[in-house]
Amino acid sequence: MLRIGCHLSSSKGFLDMAKTAQSIGATTFQYFTRNPRGGAAKEWKETDIKAMLDLFGQTGIGMPLAHAPYTINACAKEERTRQFALETLADDLRRLEMLPGALYNFHPGSHVGQGADRGIELIADALNQVLEPQQHTTVLLETMAGKGTEVGRSFEEIRRIIDKVELSGKMGVCLDTCHVWDGGYDIVGHLDEVLQEFDSVIGLERLKAIHVNDSMNPCGAHKDRHQKIGQGFIGEEAFGRIVNHPALKGLPFYLETPNELDGYQAEIAMLRAASPEA
Ligand code: FE
Ligand code: FE
Ligand code: ZN
Repeated sequence: MLRIGCHLSSSKGFLDMAKTAQSIGATTFQYFTRNPRGGAAKEWKETDIKAMLDLFGQTGIGMPLAHAPYTINACAKEERTRQFALETLADDLRRLEMLPGALYNFHPGSHVGQGADRGIELIADALNQVLEPQQHTTVLLETMAGKGTEVGRSFEEIRRIIDKVELSGKMGVCLDTCHVWDGGYDIVGHLDEVLQEFDSVIGLERLKAIHVNDSMNPCGAHKDRHQKIGQGFIGEEAFGRIVNHPALKGLPFYLETPNELDGYQAEIAMLRAASPEA
């Protein structure tokens, strides 16, 4: 069974998201841990989480993927900005212990002119400050498009961050199809080779989730503009190969395409139709 879902609004809580996911044929979903534009995070309700987990038991919907606000920057130049990122990561990790075995994805950051080496150092340092040996959450670094000064624009940069993390057993990777395509990895013409490269540089055992997005731009554009599946430069056929690739078998897939719920429902159905075991 293909594990596929989409990004959902978290404003009405966990049970509401799980019901919404179920209503559109999704078997998992992604949500922001807090409002990406800032402000204090609401405390999560034990009863809401319990109700969601009960529904998971009945429906086969799986553990959702938590996404950190994309506005935080763990390798900011300004100490105050970096401190805010550290506090946000630590607070999210604390709350995520209410969901044992959670996956928590974040954008590594932008080095804002300090250089990728310094960025990598600062990101790893942030992780070394917030990761706890007893935590149950796996933290995922998202592969980035390389827009501006983004760190994580290549598999090598992701690997270099992980290598500097002391509790590297808590670390994994989320591969975003739009981002790697924009980053210069040809997943249309050379999917096997790209996944082999991921394996040799990072290791496929670190790959925990896939963001499924088409791209408004050609390979290597370093732009990061998501497009609906089949309406961008990656194209529907390539996504059929991606969801069916043996190296990605069993991983959860998350749509972050420019859609409302009905659009997500249609894309989930399209990708299930492309997968023989869906
Ligand atoms: Fe993201
Ligand atoms: Fe993404
Ligand atoms: Zn993106």
